[in-house]
Amino acid sequence: MNELKNIAKTHKSTRMFLIFSSVLMGATVIGQAYFFVTIVDRVFLRGHSIQEIVPFLAGLLIVLIARSALTYGSGRAGVLMASKVKRDFRKKLLNKISSNPMQSALQGQSGQKVSVMMDAVDGIDSYFSRFIPQVIQTSIVPLMILVVVFTQHIYSGLIMVITAPFIPLFMAIIGMKTQKKSEEQVEKLSAFSGQFLDTLQGLTTLKLFGRSSHQKELIQKNSLNFRDATMEILKIAFMSSLMLEFISMLSMGLIALEASIRLVVFESITFFTAFFILVLAPEFYLSLKDLGSAFHTGRGSMGAANKVTEELAEKDKAIQWGAKSLNGKGSPPTIELNGTSFHYSQEGFSLRNIKAVIEPYEQVAIVGKSGSGKTTLLHLIAGLLSPTEGKIFINGTSLFDHKESDWFDQLSYISQNPYLFSGTLAENIAIGGTTDPLSTEVEVAAKKAGIDELINSLENGYDTPVGEAGRGLSGGEKQRIAIARAFLKQPSIILFDEPTTGLDLHTERVLQSSIKELSQTSTVITVAHRLHTIKNADKILFLADGELVASGTHHDLLATVPDYREMIYVQQRGVTL
Ligand code: ADP
Repeated sequence: MNELKNIAKTHKSTRMFLIFSSVLMGATVIGQAYFFVTIVDRVFLRGHSIQEIVPFLAGLLIVLIARSALTYGSGRAGVLMASKVKRDFRKKLLNKISSNPMQSALQGQSGQKVSVMMDAVDGIDSYFSRFIPQVIQTSIVPLMILVVVFTQHIYSGLIMVITAPFIPLFMAIIGMKTQKKSEEQVEKLSAFSGQFLDTLQGLTTLKLFGRSSHQKELIQKNSLNFRDATMEILKIAFMSSLMLEFISMLSMGLIALEASIRLVVFESITFFTAFFILVLAPEFYLSLKDLGSAFHTGRGSMGAANKVTEELAEKDKAIQWGAKSLNGKGSPPTIELNGTSFHYSQEGFSLRNIKAVIEPYEQVAIVGKSGSGKTTLLHLIAGLLSPTEGKIFINGTSLFDHKESDWFDQLSYISQNPYLFSGTLAENIAIGGTTDPLSTEVEVAAKKAGIDELINSLENGYDTPVGEAGRGLSGGEKQRIAIARAFLKQPSIILFDEPTTGLDLHTERVLQSSIKELSQTSTVITVAHRLHTIKNADKILFLADGELVASGTHHDLLATVPDYREMIYVQQRGVTL
């Protein structure tokens, strides 16, 4: 709540406008009652003619119009404030996620993030569009009514003062109960969204393993949970509005009883006064009741706000880049891992105390069993993950002291499953170039990467749409697109996650020769699975269980490291078989 309150405070001009319009609103409420009662009093009791009451009718009309305009104005101000706050929140969330897409992707479900971004932020809306305007209005309008009632008839005023506190008191009790429930509801919704998206993305896998019906049941269970949570909140909301209605009806009844006894039995007040109070009383309670219902939605926003601020608070984990420029652009830098460690979480896998120096133009192979931390190490060198301890030095300066764009400008990362965004093949290759490359340049790059034949065989050639909305490519084909990007980019460092799957001889050769050509102008660091790559490496980093067991050439390691020898033996057998 405090977080939202602070944000509300920053919207000073809107608040001033709301306060100002609430005062005017109070005046119109009182004016409306006054004109209405005066007209009735004069026409029915004093027998005035139509002409005589024309000014009052005109007054009533003006006040009614003013009241509608004010309601519209303050509603609009609230909605504008809410949309600005939501925009800011979404911007912050988007910045956070895009400032470190790798880390964001590694942490948690993407469906859940979408849910926070869309639904939780939307949940905040009502706090600004309804709750704040209503709080301001309710702290002004009923007070004005009360002052007027007191000037007319003290006892009615007293009844109002005594009964009014029951409404906020009751609201507070219910509010406290709903907050927890609404937090639960947001929680359930985001769990549901997360699971739904993840299930959709993994549908093929689930089908293959015959687990789709199990997932269906889970989704069903989660959606029913969400329904129950929503119904629970609605139940409380309906119950509480019933109770609020009851309290205000009772109070108005008391006032009516008191005024009519004074008017009829004791004849101590005039008809005008009694009627005026009777018309004002419902307005008084209506304003309080409106606050009651706004209170529910306001409270509901809190659950959503907590969710958003929680997500934003994780910001600290994002990688902060410095401003130093990378000297000697074009030629590869020296990369030094100085006792670098990384933990995914407290108890999970950790890569420990890696010490290594990678010289310019060196061909490095990272080798080790599956799960030994090879990809993690590659991500650390890429600057996609930030070391938990120790540093990575680039030409003697800490990696993250550099400008992010400087670093990524010299780097190509060819993962096992490169991402193709939705667009044509040509566009997908062209993102490798810094400026818009010519179509001939794209074609040359594709040729060097050995993907040109395949592209030319397609009906639409380079204009074939791929990605989300287009043609799917195989893992090997995607890698060749990524290599074509690298040919355009001409990076000084290439990070390559070698395919683990068996490739046909032709593709294998193409990949090898492309990487070889790229290595003429750059340092190549490969997560290597192929004997050929391992044997030809200048330096092998041999990992086991997150530790760097040994480093050196294939020959060195064969001679000195038994585990390495065994691994190569197993691999060789696999290859020759
Ligand atoms: P390799 O590439 O050698 O197969 P990885 O570096 O991919 O190994 O993974 C090393 C270990 O880290 C594995 O046990 C894996 O389960 C774990 N791991 C990988 N990514 C994550 C992640 N995002 N969160 C938690 N653990 C992870």
